[in-house]
Amino acid sequence: MRIARFTTDSRTDDEGPAYGVVSGELDEFGQLPDDAVIVTLAGDPLYMGIKLLEEEHKASDVRFLAPVLPRSKVVGIGKNYAAHAAEMGGEAPAEPLMFLKPNTSVVGPDDPIFYPRQSENVQYEGELAVVIGRICRDVPVEKATDVIYGYTIANDVTARDLQRSDVQFTRAKGFDSFCPLGPWIETDLDPAAFAEGKRVQTFLNGDVVQDGTTADMIHDIPSLVAHVSSVMTLLPGDVILTGTPEGVGPMQVDDEVEVAIEGLGALTNTVKERR
Ligand code: MG
Repeated sequence: MRIARFTTDSRTDDEGPAYGVVSGELDEFGQLPDDAVIVTLAGDPLYMGIKLLEEEHKASDVRFLAPVLPRSKVVGIGKNYAAHAAEMGGEAPAEPLMFLKPNTSVVGPDDPIFYPRQSENVQYEGELAVVIGRICRDVPVEKATDVIYGYTIANDVTARDLQRSDVQFTRAKGFDSFCPLGPWIETDLDPAAFAEGKRVQTFLNGDVVQDGTTADMIHDIPSLVAHVSSVMTLLPGDVILTGTPEGVGPMQVDDEVEVAIEGLGALTNTVKERR
């Protein structure tokens, strides 16, 4: 099932965004067919389950928003693909390298990525994102699927110059708009599908710049959930970014960046100047 968060022209500010189930088979570019529909749900399915309302929209008539607002945190994992670790000038660490992105860095599909004044080297990192469904701590590897709600696409936007000059990653990865998520959460896949391999591609102005597979992750999804939850309690709606394949590179103002993951869809954003 694909769970989206969306708004429409007719929804009032008081109503706020809605959640819905998105139908339709994705094409080879991860796009919905013209006749795709979204059936509205009663409330946030993370907390209320799936309660379908008798209200549906053409998917092309709604505006998709970040499918989840992480309740407490986005946990990033650095250097989880050996080829990316190599291009960063080193070997992958033996244990997953964790960092945090604030939940205020999250934006949705088609939202701008704002290029901050403090950086001259803002880079894309296309990544698979895991959405947590239950409060949990010290999750054993074999129980990890029990706490996973689903999967979405992320761009772990990074000010590479600030990442190198600061001792840690908070500023480099924490700017507002540096965590596009979406366009929806797929709940029907499991870690085995990603261990077998789903293609992860990033396109910059239509040119492919990253072309990897989730099969190349060093630490698989259950291991990441176990590792992160051994350090900090995870809450429903928290997100774990699973690392980026090789091919990271800079973006410029007005660039369009798209991250596509096989079976999940495609997440597109445009870089804008931060005023
Ligand atoms: Mg990353």
